[in-house]
Amino acid sequence: MCFNFLFFSAFPLLGQESRALVEYEKKKMMMKKPIYKASFYTLGCRLNQAETSLISNTFKERNYEIVEYGQPTDVCVINTCTVTEQADAKCRQLVRQVLKRSPDAFVAVVGCYAQMGAEALRRIEGIDLIVGTEEKMAVADFIDIPQKLPEPIIRRSKISKTPFTISSVGNYEHATRANLKVQDGCDFMCTFCVIPFARGRSRSRAFWDIQREAIQLVARGHKELVLSGVNIGTYEFEGKTVLDIVKMLETIDGLERIRISSIEPTTISIELVEHMAESEKLCSHFHIPLQSGDDSVLANMRRLYNVAEYVKFLEMIANRIPDVCLGTDVMVGFPGEGEAEFANTHRLLEQLPFAYFHVFPFSERKGTAAVKIEDKVEVHTKKERSEILRNLSREKKTHFYQQQLGKSVKVLMEEQNEPGWFQGFTDNYVKVGVPTDCDLSNEFVEVELKEISQKNLAIGEILNTY
Ligand code: SF4
Repeated sequence: MCFNFLFFSAFPLLGQESRALVEYEKKKMMMKKPIYKASFYTLGCRLNQAETSLISNTFKERNYEIVEYGQPTDVCVINTCTVTEQADAKCRQLVRQVLKRSPDAFVAVVGCYAQMGAEALRRIEGIDLIVGTEEKMAVADFIDIPQKLPEPIIRRSKISKTPFTISSVGNYEHATRANLKVQDGCDFMCTFCVIPFARGRSRSRAFWDIQREAIQLVARGHKELVLSGVNIGTYEFEGKTVLDIVKMLETIDGLERIRISSIEPTTISIELVEHMAESEKLCSHFHIPLQSGDDSVLANMRRLYNVAEYVKFLEMIANRIPDVCLGTDVMVGFPGEGEAEFANTHRLLEQLPFAYFHVFPFSERKGTAAVKIEDKVEVHTKKERSEILRNLSREKKTHFYQQQLGKSVKVLMEEQNEPGWFQGFTDNYVKVGVPTDCDLSNEFVEVELKEISQKNLAIGEILNTY
């Protein structure tokens, strides 16, 4: 059998064939003795995590031993973020930390900050390689023998606009859930956001390549896959949409759960909502960025909806999908957000059936349109507002969890959080802890939810294992 054909075939792979392929690849790797060690550090979003695991696999295929970050290593790859000023600073700080800890290691800095801040990175003595967005997945190709260089090599090519494939499979050795990258970049141009510059315009991964990696991830034991991208609702490949990806994944034997990560409100089709309401495998969980609950702020952000439209849509989802977990992102301190505008956001977040939200203080990014908007908000006000909304999010989460008490739920167990306790998640993203001495990692168990702990964990009793 020709395994290369299986890898690159445009035809659907059968479960048995894909398993044979994975076994073959594993044996091949075991026969080689690693020469060098490589470690990885990821800053930023879920998509970056997905990409680091794909990059790490490319090193594994080149016979590197993958070691945990902080262990002695020959190569250290830092996959960076540039979404805020703090993200940039964190990246520079991390690079210095690596250089101090492993002065002889070959240091490669890749990703969004490598794309946007290459000049600042170049000034940090000791970096060997800086690779921007377009070529970061191929970083392993640029390291022949990992030896320190007198000057960093900088690779920053034009970011492509066409569909892509990734000839790798995510390496998630210690995780039960795996991320599956389906899309990259964004065309929306929100005025605060640097992502369209750092990651380029929206482009989709070839449908068959998503299927190929998904089959391989499932063959490696992952029962839950999380669709990841920058703006995944805009996925479009040869007429296929994100709903088609979900339907295709549902046919994969052994894949029990599919989760959609963050998705923009204007890109969610009614069909996707309907499908979530009926599906056995698509988790009842939407994370839909709101950003502000005030129309004037939304307009200045150049978001593609107003408050009334968002509310109508969110309520439709909540009515259509019982017990759905709804999460959101909210930004505080955007220019022009006065007391009244912030109060509108606060009120809306109180009213809407959110289970949680992530709060981000506005951070001015060079080159974005928001730089020109006047009426900036003081740093201390941003801090206060962030704190108010984070407290509200904790209350909303407790309320959502309380609504789940008394129910029997199916939990995919992930890890032991402390001796005698195991924890995992329900399909509607309730974090559940059960008292047990058994190793339940990656097992489904039926749990009756009894109470909520101080750490906002739903405590349950195991009724059944599957
Ligand atoms: S939708 Fe807006 S916030 Fe999200 S990545 Fe695109 S430009 Fe940035």
